[in-house]
Amino acid sequence: MSVRVVEKRIEDILEIMRNPSQIRNVGTLAHVDHGKTTTTDSLLMGAGLLSPKVAGKALALDYVEIEQIRQMTVKAANISLYFEYGGKPYLINFVDTPGHVDFTGHVTRSLRVMDGALVVVDAVEGVMTQTETVVKQAMEEMVRPVLFINKIDRLIKELRLPPQDIGNRILYITKEFNSLIDSYAPPEFKEKWKVSVNKGQVAFGSALSKWGLTIPMMQEKGIKFSYIMDAYERNAVDELAQEFPLYRTLLTMIIEHIPPPDVAQKYRVPKLWKGDLNSPVGKALLDADPNGPLVIAISKINKDPHAGLIATGRVFSGTIREGDEVYIIGQKITKKVLQTYLYMGPNRIIVPEVTAGNIVALMGVDEARAGDTLVATALKDIPPFEKMRYVSEPVVTVA
Ligand code: GDP
Repeated sequence: MSVRVVEKRIEDILEIMRNPSQIRNVGTLAHVDHGKTTTTDSLLMGAGLLSPKVAGKALALDYVEIEQIRQMTVKAANISLYFEYGGKPYLINFVDTPGHVDFTGHVTRSLRVMDGALVVVDAVEGVMTQTETVVKQAMEEMVRPVLFINKIDRLIKELRLPPQDIGNRILYITKEFNSLIDSYAPPEFKEKWKVSVNKGQVAFGSALSKWGLTIPMMQEKGIKFSYIMDAYERNAVDELAQEFPLYRTLLTMIIEHIPPPDVAQKYRVPKLWKGDLNSPVGKALLDADPNGPLVIAISKINKDPHAGLIATGRVFSGTIREGDEVYIIGQKITKKVLQTYLYMGPNRIIVPEVTAGNIVALMGVDEARAGDTLVATALKDIPPFEKMRYVSEPVVTVA
């Protein structure tokens, strides 16, 4: 399986990055085996991986093998997908989230740099304990969820449900999911963050067969669940994948319903940072202001055989450039940033600067640890981001 590479000039990529309305920072969360990996693969294959075009030179690769990307995601912290919607280009940063819930806080660390989560739920199994755990963790970090109900084919082939019952099953899982939002969402978002099938905040389909739909899409096309069953009966599922490609449905849902970084930071920052919101840095953080003072939250540290330690994080305010001096709060040390990178395609590419709202990789800040806050040297005395809390599995009572 290979992935198409979309070549863009670095300047064009940086231009998109300067416009927060064209950025989304998301990750995929799921109970084990519900289809997180298969869903991510189908997004990569459909959307096209953004890759820098060096002026005048053609890129060595037009396609990248899925396996290569899997290996890359072990090292890297995110993959940027390029998607055009409503005539505009979007950069969707998929933050690498661990395969399943662990107790070391990796999920929480990834959540800090995300504004939205695509939660995958198996249509037969429904909401499970790890679904509950990841939703709870997302809520703690003020990350807004959308829902993808996967493995609809199992309802048709294994459970042999009639069309009416498929619709009811989708409504039931949505209700279960919304009861998690009701339990764990911050009070001001309990209603707003509930997902609605009629608003297109719930997608359903098959990651394995690469098709996906929402209710508004079905209404627009004038189709009913019997249309989907018919495709399965005729052994023509490929037609569904061509007509309703999963990547398009999911990326559309993400663009429409996950907030861009400048919108998300207005409510996330007051929860994640306890400094003075009326100070210049407080205001810049709320606005994701690229011209504000520099504040970065570090989410991951990787060892690179050539470049040494690489710190990945989200720029919440300001713009980071190669050569900038940064102060690592917590480690109480000032360091010079030797290189700034973006994760693109199978590579990490050097870029001159990364603006607020985006995810950056840094070389030269070896002392930084996941969870640390990096700031401009003039901001030494501001409080760091709140410590990330590790949420344990919910207690399951056996009757
Ligand atoms: P993860 O643990 O959440 O990453 O789940 P995977 O993506 O590895 O999927 C778990 C299993 O479910 C694998 O055997 C997949 O082939 C299978 N699977 C994924 N999507 C679908 C689907 O749409 N329909 C069916 N029937 N199986 C699927």
